[in-house]
Parts: sequence; C-alpha cells; structure tokens
Amino acid sequence: MTARLIDGVKLAASIREEVAQRAAALTAKGIQPGLAVIVVGSDPASQVYVRNKVAACEKAGLHSVLEAYPATMTQEALLDRVRALNADPKIHGILVQLPLPAHIDSHLVIETIAAAKDVDGFHVSNAGLLMTGKPLFRPCTPYGVMKMLESEHVEIRGAVAVIIGASNIVGKPMVMLLQSAGATVTICNSKTRDLGWHTRHADIVVVATGKPRMIDGSMIKPGAVVIDVGINRLPDGKLCGDVDFESAKEVASAITPVPGGVGPMTIAMLLVNTIEAAERAYAAK
Ligand code: NAD
Repeated sequence: MTARLIDGVKLAASIREEVAQRAAALTAKGIQPGLAVIVVGSDPASQVYVRNKVAACEKAGLHSVLEAYPATMTQEALLDRVRALNADPKIHGILVQLPLPAHIDSHLVIETIAAAKDVDGFHVSNAGLLMTGKPLFRPCTPYGVMKMLESEHVEIRGAVAVIIGASNIVGKPMVMLLQSAGATVTICNSKTRDLGWHTRHADIVVVATGKPRMIDGSMIKPGAVVIDVGINRLPDGKLCGDVDFESAKEVASAITPVPGGVGPMTIAMLLVNTIEAAERAYAAK
C-alpha cells in the first residue's frame, strides 16, 4: 500500500483564506485583529518561525508586531513588555517564542500573558480549560493535527491513538483533543518500553519527539494514519520528521510529509486563535 499524502500546505492555505475573510469582516467593524510576537535571543530556528508567523498574519490582513530582543534581556524587562501588551487594545494575541534564554523563567512569562490573549494556549488556565473539555484556545500544533484528521475524514471516535512525545506544547494537549473526540489514547515518552508494541496497535499515530526518523514502517499497523510533527535539520541542511517517511508510507493509509505537513498548519491555527480572540474582544465590547 502507498499512503495518501495529507497536504498541510493546501489545507493551511484554505484555513488562512477563511481567516482573511473573518479579519476583513472584523476590520470593517472597527477592530483589526492584532498579534504580537516576542522573540528573545538569536536562535536561528526561532527567528525563522517568528518571521513566518508575522508574514502569515500580514498576508491574512491581521495587524502584527514583531518584538525582537537580545539574549541579554532581563526577565523583568520581558515581563514588563508582556504586561504592556496585555493592556494594549490593538493586540488580541500574544506569543512569546520558546525556548527563552536560560536566565528567564518561561513558566512565569507564560503565566504573565493574559489568558484571553494566550493564543498559544500554554497558560495554565487555558491548559486547565482544555483538560476539562471547555477549551478557550487549543494549542496550535495539536489543533492543526485535529484539522488534518477532520479534513481526511479519519474516524476518531473509537479509534486507538498513540502519541509519542509528552511535551506540554504538543503531546499532552494532543491527548486531550483526541480523547475529547472519542479516541482511546496512549501517550508514550522516552522511558516507554517497547514503543513498537504500542504503535503497532494504533489506528492513529502522532509522533512528536524531535528524534529524526525514529518510527519506521515496521512499527506501523497496516492502514494506520501517521502524523509526523517532528522538524529536524539533518547535517546536509535538509529537513526531516520523526517518522521514516519512505518505509512508513508503504504501510500507512495516510501520512503527513515533512516539510509541508503539520508545520504550515501550526501557523494557520495561530491565525485562527488570534481571530477568535479578536472576535471575543469585539463581542465583549
Ligand atoms: P520536547 O523535547 O519538549 O518533547 C519531546 C518528547 O518526546 C518528550 O516527552 C520525550 O520524553 C519524548 N521522547 C524523546 N525521545 C523519545 C523516544 N526515543 N521514544 C519515545 N519518546 C521520546 O519536544 P516538542 O517541543 O514536543 O517537539 C517535538 C518535535 O516536534 C521537535 O522536532 C519539534 O521541532 C517539533 N515541533 C514541530 C511543530 C510543528 O509545527 N510542526 C511544533 C512544535 C514542535
């Protein structure tokens, strides 16, 4: 079997188009949705991500502000910027790009973002709302994965889903979203014994470990849907995922490529979260 390719670029483009229409409607009513992105330090991957996020905003007609600071920025100065953006009525979403330099407490920074502007969905109150089935913001990457599964009409209800990687930004919220949609979910981490035993029982496999090509076709149940969240830069400069695409595509029924899979969806869902925040701000006026 050769798997169907789940095209994240195409799906993200249609979502961004819908966001652009909603942004235009809101702007016509006097509220232009606005996103502020803060990046601290010069991590090359972070610089690319923030530039892509801001460019996507501008293309969709959102107001966007990119604040770039040197790695020497103090924690207090960063918290002051976050507080100022919390109070800025032109800004509906605030994103602080992770990772932050080691002298800054990322947890404290995220907790300082107003929950109503936390478009990444990382604030503990947003994590709690997701956990209790009443999400305000769904974290962008898992939200994008759900949209991909929906667009492919993947039967989630009753499915066995295995998530590999238990981070706060991908794996854990992915559990909540899949479980809310009716899947029976297992989450694996670096201590899991016999990973392949778990993955070979899964109808849906989501991999987010940051370990290049660690899941291959022999670990996939025939006909499973494989979602590869990983983005790894190889020594030759090329990008690859956490799944060995060539062998997995021979076994899976559908699979996401890297690049061109989950990555573009993460940005599209950031725009969706920002527009939703702006719509809520308008409704509360
Ligand atoms: P992280 O480092 O915070 O967490 C990795 C998780 O994987 C941990 O829970 C760890 O226990 C688990 N893990 C590591 N090795 C493992 C192994 N051998 N077996 C089982 N589990 C293992 O990573 P993260 O922030 O969740 O990111 C994971 C990957 O996803 C990275 O490649 C990152 O670049 C990528 N990512 C992509 C997007 C996107 O938009 N496509 C967004 C976020 C993260």
